[in-house]
Amino acid sequence: MALDQTHDPARRSWVASAHEAGADFTIQNLPLGVVAIDGNARAAVPIGDRVVDLRHARDAGLLGTLPTAIADALGAPTLNALFALGRPALATLRAHVSEMLRADTPMGARAAKDATLTVPAGTVEARLPVEVGDYTDFYASIDHATNVGSMFRPENPLLPNYKHVPIGYHGRASSIVASGVPVRRPRGQMAPVAEGLPRFGASERLDYELEIGAVVGRGNALGAPIPIAEAEQHLAGLVLVNDWSARDIQAWEYQPLGPFLAKNFATTIAPWVVTLDALEPFRAPARPRAEGEPAPLPYLADATDRTRGAYDITLEVWIRTERMRAEGRAAERLSHGTFGRMYWTLAQMLTHHASNGCNLRPGDLLASGTVSGPERDSRGCMLELAWKGTEPVVLGNGEKRAFIADGDEVILRGWCERPGVARVGFGECRAVVLPAVG
Ligand code: CA
Repeated sequence: MALDQTHDPARRSWVASAHEAGADFTIQNLPLGVVAIDGNARAAVPIGDRVVDLRHARDAGLLGTLPTAIADALGAPTLNALFALGRPALATLRAHVSEMLRADTPMGARAAKDATLTVPAGTVEARLPVEVGDYTDFYASIDHATNVGSMFRPENPLLPNYKHVPIGYHGRASSIVASGVPVRRPRGQMAPVAEGLPRFGASERLDYELEIGAVVGRGNALGAPIPIAEAEQHLAGLVLVNDWSARDIQAWEYQPLGPFLAKNFATTIAPWVVTLDALEPFRAPARPRAEGEPAPLPYLADATDRTRGAYDITLEVWIRTERMRAEGRAAERLSHGTFGRMYWTLAQMLTHHASNGCNLRPGDLLASGTVSGPERDSRGCMLELAWKGTEPVVLGNGEKRAFIADGDEVILRGWCERPGVARVGFGECRAVVLPAVG
């Protein structure tokens, strides 16, 4: 997609809060999600501090004449059917929603007078934007892979396959939860403390992982790989993901088959899928391969992907402990980094995933892996930030964290900003940790 009038930074909305400094949900953004309005799951778009009910918009004629397939998909309780229609349909819907929310058009004037078109964002409950059929988690940050590798294999931090093959594992979709849903500390089996038997109990090393998730749009048939030049046509958009991880359970169980119960007790995703169309102004060259690093194999190599396959997204992790809430303290930032530094692009991850003929389906979630950078304050999980517990983080009120405590709320934020372009934000992905059961 090229830039079009929906990206015009001069475009104004009749929702005034969309123009406040630092607003995530500008009229140039228009991400998609599902919220509960009066108990009913509704496809929705946030704008400023309001949320637009898309089904109401359709029924009130405020979206003009939409192709039937798009209009039908807006009546569904998830976005799977809409995303299955592919990128052109999302671009069409984006154009219609933008017209409806403009300050200076007859349709915008009509929409502004409709009292039930929008509701205050603070009054709606986020639902999962899609029913996730399959969830895959990659490991695409070379800084994360190097940091974690150096804790466990100081002499050989990066395994020899890393620079050739996008590493990933199949996660579990059933425990993906919407932002705001509390996360229960898992119990599990862990290594013996000294000599003796392994233990079973509440994890003492609960961690978050800051990630970006790509939501699959149009799928591919079983046995039909996706060429890298077409990969992004199969992606609807991106969403913030917290891949909760129990490091003590992980350390005991991960060999030889990889993550299992250390990961599948909860994964939190943000309410809003920011479309790739909205992110078009924030494309960036893929991370260049350094001298001596191998070129990607031909099926993962594409000139366009190399020049514009990355997305320049600023990401942050914040924490607010139970004591901070009691003391009336605001959340504190733990780290900040950028998604633009990942070793593999989204197109490379998706193409690799389907390269053996594996079929991807609308609504599948492909998460990036922990987004870390080379600096200490850009480490995207507590395992790295507190370096395996040896360098605890000291918070403003004196509390220390080597891992996540009960009552802690972890908040992920993300946004894109560039001179001459309207800001596009991802909103927040948040959850409070509850004590383990029993
Ligand atoms: Ca992960």
